[in-house]
Amino acid sequence: MAKIAINIATGSLQQEEIIVGIDLGTTNSLVAIIHPESKRPVALKEHDKRPLVPSVIHFGDNGQITVGEEAKQYLVTDPANTIFSAKRLMGKTYHDVKSNAGALAYKIIDGAAATANENKLVKVQVGETFYSAVDLSSLILKELKKQAEHILKTPVTKAVITVPAYFNDAQRQATRDAGKLAGLDVLRIINEPTAASLAYGFGAPSNSPKGGGQATTAKTIAVYDLGGGTFDISILNISDGIFEVLSTHGDTYLGGDDLDAAVTEYWIGEYKFAGDELKHRQVLRLKAEEAKKYLTANELFESVYEGVPVSLTREKFNELIKPIVEKTIGSCRNALKDAGLKTAEVDEIVMVGGSTRVPLVKKMVSEFFGKNLNDTVDPDEVVALGAAIQADILAGNTTNLLLLDVTPLSLGLETMGGLMDVLLPRNSKIPTRASRQYTTYKDGQGSMKIAVYQGERDMVKDNRRLAEFNLTGIPGMPAGMPKVEISFLINADGILVVNAKELRSGIEQSIEVKPQYGLTDEEGEKMLLDSMEHAKEDIGRRALTEAKTEAEQLLQTTEKFLQKNFTLVTPDEVSATSLAMQALQLSLELNDKNLIQTKTEELNDISRPYAERVMDQAVSKAMAGKKI
Ligand code: ADP
Ligand code: MG
Repeated sequence: MAKIAINIATGSLQQEEIIVGIDLGTTNSLVAIIHPESKRPVALKEHDKRPLVPSVIHFGDNGQITVGEEAKQYLVTDPANTIFSAKRLMGKTYHDVKSNAGALAYKIIDGAAATANENKLVKVQVGETFYSAVDLSSLILKELKKQAEHILKTPVTKAVITVPAYFNDAQRQATRDAGKLAGLDVLRIINEPTAASLAYGFGAPSNSPKGGGQATTAKTIAVYDLGGGTFDISILNISDGIFEVLSTHGDTYLGGDDLDAAVTEYWIGEYKFAGDELKHRQVLRLKAEEAKKYLTANELFESVYEGVPVSLTREKFNELIKPIVEKTIGSCRNALKDAGLKTAEVDEIVMVGGSTRVPLVKKMVSEFFGKNLNDTVDPDEVVALGAAIQADILAGNTTNLLLLDVTPLSLGLETMGGLMDVLLPRNSKIPTRASRQYTTYKDGQGSMKIAVYQGERDMVKDNRRLAEFNLTGIPGMPAGMPKVEISFLINADGILVVNAKELRSGIEQSIEVKPQYGLTDEEGEKMLLDSMEHAKEDIGRRALTEAKTEAEQLLQTTEKFLQKNFTLVTPDEVSATSLAMQALQLSLELNDKNLIQTKTEELNDISRPYAERVMDQAVSKAMAGKKI
């Protein structure tokens, strides 16, 4: 929040330019702000309600869309039209999520089936309508915005939104787009564990007194986040107000839902209810969640279902969920290994997510790290509270903090043979920059394809393509002569900017990496459809243009070369070259891509030998010069 002014007409406090912090969760979402009077972060809620808004969307027959608590009831009564866990679909293709599609009550489809869309981002089908993950998240954000405006009685248009530390570029950009679609100006995307650490005041200026002559000691923090359907562990380092994510690990299909499922399966096996098992499962799941929560503070849960008494002791519950908690401990071990740390080197453990209320979870995490836990801030609210603190930093109210995060996956380029050449390895700190020089492999090559990939595999085909562009207008030079410097810059939001520059000529081009889809508002959708309809033509046209550009450049350079080095080339070579040039010129007039490419190759083959010879002579001359 930048300014607070008093509205003279009403005498009420009016906040201008309020910036809210939003935790857009898989299971629950919420909004927080810095309270104008107490200056402390608070979660927004209507008087009698909890601040949590379930991340659930129901699509009614009449076209009515319900989001949040009200929508949750439809999970049982109308599962086919009720969408939950949309966050897990963010930036994902059908291929990424299909193995888990069976677990969903709603229909997911790949973009190809819906719209013949080549990039195949997953969509959800409700009736006749297809929704992307961005559409769905924007509906949740719209609801949060509406509720916040109702509570604050002022328009809310600016926000900081949190995402898991492992979110890739596509997922971060999708989150940003969802905000935009909901009418929010997303000022910053920050990592959930960073937000949680902020909420605990780690690294805050008040915790690091200045002027005492002593440097503040660095702190290593493990943030353990067990939510409804996801788990992640992040290791952060904080020193002098600088946050750095050292490593992250986790599982996007592990969370409180699995605890509920374990209890449900146990009851189904134990009590053998007659009739529709699917229906039993649905009802028992809700009962299981109730039991789980109850057992946080009690030893025995008792209830009745279908006239049968069902019960669960804390001891049995612990036995059922122990394998699940053990998996999370395995991730903790991996995260520490990646960060190059031992458990004893972790100074603080921060507990995040509703499922960390489970006593066994606390016990096992505390035992693994051999330390007491930080669990005093409400685990449901802690991320949103931290986002509100970050919003306050952006508003200019706190200036002593700086955030540094890491890249979740390696970023690199496609090189010869489809190999992945990594420029920024995973877990690189951001903001960051890296660059490397490349060259051409063909004489007179006028353009260079730059394809950016994300992932850990050696072959780019196994990784995810983020962007592709052509650096054109490289002046004709023998193969290996141009020096093309490609640099990757990741800004503080985790958005990648790729720049390519040919150093001898200075020609330059850059691109901001966006995920492979347009904004799914009407305009974006239309653009996408148009581009798909014409994709084949476009590709054909582009290939022809590129071939022509390359041919024209080769003709020019060859001509210049011959003029300059006339005495160094034999008459036979000159006449063969001029024939090949005429043939290439003709193919250009015929506008035939394949012919142009063949004739370009032929001219290259003829000129290469003498071009190399001349280059060698030039080099030996230069060497000879040195000797004198
Ligand atoms: P997310 O970050 O994925 O949106 P949350 O942090 O809101 O998820 O956590 C939701 C999960 O927390 C649900 O599985 C819910 O059952 C669980 N939960 C909430 N309160 C308790 C409790 N008292 N004991 C155990 N689990 C709880
Ligand atoms: Mg969460």
